[in-house]
Amino acid sequence: MTTLERRLGITSTVSELRTWIAAERNRGRTIGFVPTMGALHDGHLSLIHAALASCDVAVASIFVNPMQFGPSEDLSRYPRTPDTDIRLLTSAGCHYLFMPDVSEMYPEGFRTRIEMSDLLLVLCGRTRPTHFQGVLTIVLKLLNQVRPDAAFFGRKDYQQALVIRRMVKDLDVPVRIETCPIIREADGLALSSRNRYLTPEERADAPGLRRAILAADRAFRDGTRDVARLVAAGLQALAAHPRFRPDYFEIRDPETLAERTEARAGDLVAAAAFIGRARLIDNGLLGQE
Ligand code: AMP
Repeated sequence: MTTLERRLGITSTVSELRTWIAAERNRGRTIGFVPTMGALHDGHLSLIHAALASCDVAVASIFVNPMQFGPSEDLSRYPRTPDTDIRLLTSAGCHYLFMPDVSEMYPEGFRTRIEMSDLLLVLCGRTRPTHFQGVLTIVLKLLNQVRPDAAFFGRKDYQQALVIRRMVKDLDVPVRIETCPIIREADGLALSSRNRYLTPEERADAPGLRRAILAADRAFRDGTRDVARLVAAGLQALAAHPRFRPDYFEIRDPETLAERTEARAGDLVAAAAFIGRARLIDNGLLGQE
């Protein structure tokens, strides 16, 4: 650690976290919060930078939330790199890190789940039917524990940011939700902790998901409005990368996630596909990519 780097306050308990944050509030400081599952990369760090740009204090959390994983998903092998994460957060200027264990977040007797009509069962929710319940439950808990002025999420997980905004609005949670741009590798692949699962061959193919979204975007810019044709253009581009097994490729209303037959500028193009042991997701907005 250089002398310029502030020490990062690290705790695994809600009570210590609350004490630290109360002290910051008493000094009149505003709090920006970045929830993560760790295995941090530049996408996560961009959220810390956004928090520091609009708040006095940045708080990050690292918690691999069992409730948002399905029974056959990658909970047990999800990458965990705490030492590197702490180093990255320290150099990014983050002030506090909350790293609870499962028993701190889900003590004996825990029962509650956040549910939401329709939005949780489309796109990623169709393949992962209990995923967003788990996400919303943990995010609401974390927001209640940290009580930040603002919380920062990546647009890479578009549906996640959208349902969190919906929950915060519906339940009058006193926090500002900020959605930040997707950070990508030079070849277009969106940064993701799950990219670590890729073999070199799969990694070489992985930008194909972004290319498929760009192919649909190109067809839109060339005048195609029929959603079935735009989707076909995307899937055809994805098929050029046979290692991918498509999960979904869809065009929807960016606010309500309603299905479309005719596309409009700004519509959401969302895609998910399996490659090797990884399931990758990406998205774009028609006419804006
Ligand atoms: P995760 O650790 O995967 O739960 O992600 C934590 C936060 O980082 C979420 O708000 C994600 O949307 C965000 N995030 C993940 N990857 C990226 C990326 N490539 N660009 C921007 N934000 C990201």
